[in-house]
Amino acid sequence: MFLDPNLNPKCAECQSMDIDPTYRRVFGCLVCKKCMNDTPEKYGLLTKTECKEVRAFGRKNDIY
Ligand SMILES: [Zn+2]
Repeated sequence: MFLDPNLNPKCAECQSMDIDPTYRRVFGCLVCKKCMNDTPEKYGLLTKTECKEVRAFGRKNDIY
């Protein structure tokens, strides 16, 4: 956390600073748990392809 509130990450949906640290680290998405629950079609299946930063999972097919 920074002293300047403008430097803290905020939820992309509601500007809350109560973002989910796992989603931030793994997917690079800033979203709070409330918005994750409110918009499951957008954040509920984020393990698939929703976030641009997700690239590491696409390599499994290379071995076939
Ligand atoms: Zn939110």
